[in-house]
Amino acid sequence: MPHDEAALPVRHGSNPVQPNAVHHSGYALVLDSLTRLHNRVYIAECLQQLLKSPRAARVGVLFIDLDGFSKINDIGGYDLGDSILRDAASRLAGLMDQQGLLGRIGSDGFLIVADDHGNPLTLVAFAQRILDLFAVPFEVAGAEYYLGVSIGMARSVHDTRDASALIRDAGSAMRRAKQSGRAEFFNKDMQDQLQRRFRIETLLRHARAAGELKLVYQPIVDSASGETVGAEALLRWTSGELGDVAPAEFIPVAEEAGLMESIGDWVLEQACAQAGQWRWSFAPHVAVSVNISPLQFNEHLVRHVAACLERSGLDASALQLEITERGLMPDEPAVSATVAALVKLGVRLSIDDFGTGYASLSYLKRFALHNLKIDRSFIQSLPHDRESVAITHAVVTMAHALGMTATAEGVETREQATALFEMGCDMLQGYLFSRPASPAEFADALSDADLGNKWCAVPQSNP
Ligand code: C2E
Ligand code: MG
Ligand code: MG
Repeated sequence: MPHDEAALPVRHGSNPVQPNAVHHSGYALVLDSLTRLHNRVYIAECLQQLLKSPRAARVGVLFIDLDGFSKINDIGGYDLGDSILRDAASRLAGLMDQQGLLGRIGSDGFLIVADDHGNPLTLVAFAQRILDLFAVPFEVAGAEYYLGVSIGMARSVHDTRDASALIRDAGSAMRRAKQSGRAEFFNKDMQDQLQRRFRIETLLRHARAAGELKLVYQPIVDSASGETVGAEALLRWTSGELGDVAPAEFIPVAEEAGLMESIGDWVLEQACAQAGQWRWSFAPHVAVSVNISPLQFNEHLVRHVAACLERSGLDASALQLEITERGLMPDEPAVSATVAALVKLGVRLSIDDFGTGYASLSYLKRFALHNLKIDRSFIQSLPHDRESVAITHAVVTMAHALGMTATAEGVETREQATALFEMGCDMLQGYLFSRPASPAEFADALSDADLGNKWCAVPQSNP
């Protein structure tokens, strides 16, 4: 940070701000033993003092977190991790001058308290220097390790802020930076988002008991005959307080809060019972697809699937489980065991949103899967976008070469459906046929056969 007469009276190393709560009876109270930087308690205390001073409005906080550090401990043990942390600490210390305060908070997190001279761009420039610093690999015992950093920034513009709130805000911005890949500022929008997220978590704990969850079903049709061959069960939540909350919003919260396993169990139970009833009463050929969160993908799922099939009388081959690529990390032994056990039960496995994940294709070779669901983002730009045509065509060809079927999701126009049929895509799903519907609406549509007749690629002898 540039030097300035009116800079904040804090320094890295010997700090003139003497926090009340920290009496210097020993270094252990103020220093982190591994990096010799200030520890979390000390830095928070200094920050609190600064926020009470007249210069409070100029205080900026940067929360710096190493990306992928946990992998380092896995690869080389704690010795390697410790060397990298010491190196990271000394790089950051090299950036500090007399006006900043640097500490380590948490295992791979660092905090810098700096004078932003009343200008947020000063912090942004500082963050850029840190990002540049970590573009250089760490060298330990002749090997190189590339670890980036994620940086969150917060400023004390509202003087009501206390130190822990400011550190928390910078931490939230850092987590957002992890997703966006850039340094981020904490702002009011983020605070509102966090509050909503917290509310969702609280309300979701009681949603099932309150009868606020239900399933809707979206038809899946055979691309050649137009016949409805199945339905995807999709979860809906109408909260008494928040109204309708989209699954894209509440499912990640449920996953983080550890609620997904019990909600997922309920979804499976309901969907199997519903499909069992449809097949028994009037649609013996209809299958049901159920989305499975990666967090559900374990031994318990196998037992629960077996129990749901048993209770509902549903044929295992009429149940398809949809899992995204991020749930199929081939190196996880538990994943292989779960796939094998589910295949043994006879259920079908489908990869959802195919083409959007980061997973390598090796899992296709490794696991005996049944279906690929091509993500809506590719289908949307059919048939005019050449790249989307090429990718969709390649996915269909690959699925068939591996003995799998392909389903297109998000089909909205006849043109898209025709292009997909011509590429050999087996099944289609999307608003062209039907929006997700209540069980009663789905049953009506199935029995009057109107839905299937909306699309028929192969000319019928009796139109
Ligand atoms: P998904 O499994 O890929 O489901 C397809 C999503 O695309 C659904 O959104 C569906 O309503 C929407 N969709 C279908 N056809 C069209 C179309 O033609 N155009 C457009 N624009 N959208 C279409 P929804 O119901 O909001 O679900 C979003 C995601 O939430 C699902 O994506 C799935 O990943 C997740 N989800 C939903 N229900 C469950 C569940 O029971 N368990 C788990 N783990 N995830 C679920
Ligand atoms: Mg799905
Ligand atoms: Mg999908």
